[in-house]
Amino acid sequence: MSRLYFDYNATTPLPAAVSEALAHALRQDWKNPSSVHQEGREARKILEAARERIALQLGSLESEIILTSGATEANNAVFHSVWEGRTEGRNRIVTTAVEHESVVRPLSALAKKGADVRFLSVNAKGELNPEELDEVLRQTLLLSVMMANNETGILFPIKKLAEKAHAKGILFHTDAVCAGGKIPLSFSELGVDFLTLSGHKFYSPKGAGLLLVKEGTDFHPQILGGPQERGRRAGTENLIGTLGLAASLDFALKGIDEENVRLFALRDRLKKGLSERIPGVVFNENGANQLSGTLSASFPGHSGQTLLARLDLEGVAVSYGAACSSGSLEVSRVLLAMGIPEKRAASSIRISFGRLTTGEEVDRLLEIFRKIL
Ligand code: PMP
Repeated sequence: MSRLYFDYNATTPLPAAVSEALAHALRQDWKNPSSVHQEGREARKILEAARERIALQLGSLESEIILTSGATEANNAVFHSVWEGRTEGRNRIVTTAVEHESVVRPLSALAKKGADVRFLSVNAKGELNPEELDEVLRQTLLLSVMMANNETGILFPIKKLAEKAHAKGILFHTDAVCAGGKIPLSFSELGVDFLTLSGHKFYSPKGAGLLLVKEGTDFHPQILGGPQERGRRAGTENLIGTLGLAASLDFALKGIDEENVRLFALRDRLKKGLSERIPGVVFNENGANQLSGTLSASFPGHSGQTLLARLDLEGVAVSYGAACSSGSLEVSRVLLAMGIPEKRAASSIRISFGRLTTGEEVDRLLEIFRKIL
């Protein structure tokens, strides 16, 4: 029996449409887009055509796109750039208590250099408190709020938050890694200043990501060298990775509304099946604004770590919290921030799925849950 992959929020499989585009690119597109000879000019053309396709899918200008190695690099670049360009009297950076390590760690590093870093709390539904936000947005340089949480799939109202920040002259960044390729997204409509994406969360190979920077926004490059990416990110462009990004965005966003209807139905089937089979199961969600393919569930009386290991033995891949911290298997700080008691948080696992997941796989997963619990 084939294994069941239910860890799409850690990374996504490579669908045939993308791997075929990549195989073609690997054979042909080995040239350097910065070379001035004919081979180089051809590679430049191919790279810029891919950028145009990406811009079209993301509702941005081509010039607003910086190709990066992934979202960790992009998030780091935003914080260090904004800190470098800070103006007198503004040294606060505000974010939330449920961000990814690639936001928390660079901000902690900046705090050691004098930044006044504040973490906004969330309520039991994973939402921000508007009063706390109003209170904390003083002398602030940047507000950074993720678009969707990687452990619970809960969505934040990014457009509104960006408007609030801008009304106070504050820059706004969103880590959109978990939402990218899962919901329609328009950079220009969102009105944010910075947005980060990671290709391997939407069916690209690992090692290619995007940082979108609104036209006219001050940006201080963090990787110095050649003049690539309009002088904003040095290094020979990842042509193959960028072609993968363009193909995978096309794949992920094609018929996205119908796909979300399908995935919400699978999610409901999973929830119903778990509730019927496992007494006491609790879902960590807000019921309203959520991604279709993420389900965080607590199994009181069981250990999430043991559950993960037993599922693995039965041929199922799920996650205990975020993949990046799953090596350490610590209790999820996201669930703790939502006020979930430690014992319940420790009994949680994250089930995430997407384009290649079928109803039959969901049913097999439910059977395995019945067997092991
Ligand atoms: N932000 C979020 C919300 C993520 O889930 C991840 C990946 N786990 C990252 C940032 C980092 O992305 P990358 O793997 O591209 O560095």
